[in-house]
Amino acid sequence: MLTVEQALAEILARVRPLPTERVPILSALGRALAEPIVSGREIPPWANSSMDGYAVRAVDTTAAPSTLTVVGAVMAGAMPARPVAAGEAMRIFTGAPLPAGADAVVPQEDTDAEDGHVMLKVAVETGAYVRLRGEDLRIGAAVLGPGVALGPAEIGVLASLGHTQVLVHRRPRVAILSTGNELAELGREPGPAQIPNTNTYSLFAQVLEAGGEPMNLGIAADRLESIEERLRWGAPADMLLSSAGVSVGDLDLVKAALTRAGAELHLWQVSMRPGKPITFGSLHGRPVFGLPGNPVSAMVTFELFVRPALRRMGGLNGIHRPRLAAKALAPIANPGSRRGYLRVTLERDGSRWGARLTGEQGSAILTSMVRADALAVVAGDTVVQTGEEVEVIVFRDFSVDSL
Ligand code: AMP
Ligand code: MG
Repeated sequence: MLTVEQALAEILARVRPLPTERVPILSALGRALAEPIVSGREIPPWANSSMDGYAVRAVDTTAAPSTLTVVGAVMAGAMPARPVAAGEAMRIFTGAPLPAGADAVVPQEDTDAEDGHVMLKVAVETGAYVRLRGEDLRIGAAVLGPGVALGPAEIGVLASLGHTQVLVHRRPRVAILSTGNELAELGREPGPAQIPNTNTYSLFAQVLEAGGEPMNLGIAADRLESIEERLRWGAPADMLLSSAGVSVGDLDLVKAALTRAGAELHLWQVSMRPGKPITFGSLHGRPVFGLPGNPVSAMVTFELFVRPALRRMGGLNGIHRPRLAAKALAPIANPGSRRGYLRVTLERDGSRWGARLTGEQGSAILTSMVRADALAVVAGDTVVQTGEEVEVIVFRDFSVDSL
């Protein structure tokens, strides 16, 4: 059986970034930049004031208090009408261009003005309260590179450089198929011996969160033709995700259906708990995952294998969740021989993070994922005792209840 690392390496070796498209910058949030951004502007474009006050020559302030002649005013959005000469000051407001001749600003709080003159109570150094031309960005500066995830700050910088549109990778379209005779579709009351289809919905949400565009192929019955037919419906997608039917039971037909549909299977079964029967292959050049059916197994294998693959297809450099060392706040036991990925909440514990199991850890207990912030990675047949360190994979983009 493969290790998680071997399986992930095998998967990532077979996925490539999707083609690119030019989109308005506000449609680019969370997507991967596909071009280098080089500054075509000096930012700020001219020296300007960071305070409301008086633009002066610093040498005129050294003998504080000093009195200078006020020679006009400059507001943000206007150019100074004249330069500032020796013995002169110009009223200036935050963001207004510094007049020629001036090299510093005395904040209003440090002045007293009366009929055409201003008394400066303090001395200022050259450059005081002045934002220099190009101090943020110089023309020709490398600002952002391909593969960067465009967040609010990156989008703001693109706007400051005048980009209305930006080249990004296409979002991966992901077709999601549930399989199983026992599944009842959402909106229908489950019949006797039926259970609600949950995987379609948790996986759909996971795809959205990972930056993909999910499409729902519904539920296939446990028959080869039924699975094959719906796999065909997924033809427009960049990736196929099915769940269930990949174990060793008589009705576990997903691998056979994939093979009949023309897929090449690259791996099956990974030494982990939950999620052991995960399957990965290629169907007509597109990656296809046969995720396990148990709802927790489907979600955890999505986190560990599908999400990094999806982000790689989306062109992002950062594809992995962060990991950190947390302190076990209560024992975290992995009784099985396979490596465990146990659901934990993270709590502040003094200056560091503490981890606590969310409750029962069965792979069918979906509520073990509810309120889970992270997966604790625990070797087989191991109990992490209270106070011991445990590695956790943080998968929730979370906010805490109180500071
Ligand atoms: P299987 O691998 O097909 O034997 O499925 C494993 C377990 O997951 C069984 O208990 C199934 O009933 C359950 N299961 C499979 N698919 C889903 C689904 N879409 N939603 C909820 N449970 C499921
Ligand atoms: Mg089944």
